[in-house]
Amino acid sequence: MSEVSLPPLDVLLCAPRGFCAGVVRAIDAVEKALVRYGAPVYVRHEIVHNKYVVESLRRKGAIFVHELDEVPDTGAPVIFSAHGVAKSVPAEAVSRRLLTIDATCPLVTKVHREAEILYRRGRHVILIGHAGHPEVVGTMGQLPNGSITLVESLDDVARIAPTDSSNLAYVTQTTLSVDDTREIAEALTRRFPEIVAPHKEDICYATTNRQEAVKHVAPQVDAMIVVGSQNSSNSQRLREVAERAGCPLARLVLRAGDLDWSEFAAIRRLGVTAGASAPEVLVEEILDAFAERYTLKVETVVTTEENMIFPLPRGLRGEAAE
Ligand code: SF4
Repeated sequence: MSEVSLPPLDVLLCAPRGFCAGVVRAIDAVEKALVRYGAPVYVRHEIVHNKYVVESLRRKGAIFVHELDEVPDTGAPVIFSAHGVAKSVPAEAVSRRLLTIDATCPLVTKVHREAEILYRRGRHVILIGHAGHPEVVGTMGQLPNGSITLVESLDDVARIAPTDSSNLAYVTQTTLSVDDTREIAEALTRRFPEIVAPHKEDICYATTNRQEAVKHVAPQVDAMIVVGSQNSSNSQRLREVAERAGCPLARLVLRAGDLDWSEFAAIRRLGVTAGASAPEVLVEEILDAFAERYTLKVETVVTTEENMIFPLPRGLRGEAAE
């Protein structure tokens, strides 16, 4: 019997890709809390935007809720997700004497503190971000209503009408497109020359590095797969970055079963990356699915080395040492 020979496919695997330090910390926090307190532990919102991660934590005993009123007064802890929460959320938890663990990424907390300091100095704060994203809800909720304005686009920059245009500052969501945000920030500065910019970039290292890697690989491949959830902001941005960098086909998929194989029939070079909340096991699953249809030659393209680690949230650190 003659062996069927599979067509060749060169795979360029972007590095860095996948989990960032904030996501590792948030998932560790849920797992450590399960060990320390036993199941169930409550998690407000998806701990990170990845259905696979959420499901695996649910199987271990995490219960995901939308709001604190779904958490019973049983003494079980409630964990705030990596995206951060509005100030009203911990305040409500304190009033109900709930045990809380804050898994907000330290780089999101940095933006929260930045916004607060600017507000205390009397500035009206503009937040560049996407309406409805939990991180944006959390950052807006650091300041009193009316003292922070969301802009999503260049049109929004043209439209806003601040009462004192000489006393503005801006901050940004951490997971935006670096290029789009630069354009919006430049438009803000053109329109309001006295606006104060963040001291240090708010878009986080993981978002920036993953976008850089995609920009490097996308022009060299026929198709790019971004492994991640549809509701993951940084993953969506990676797909857009690939398209803009000239890749003819860019798809965001969570699992191998989501691939439409007819789209990949004629490709010879494939780029693969993963959003900051996508586990490597899903990248492997997708590579395995391609290996059933092609003879793969996989090359990892490293554009930056990462070594960021964040300590566990307070209250769980002792258990890490154990
Ligand atoms: S993507 Fe950036 S801001 Fe978000 S959790 Fe990861 S490191 Fe933190």
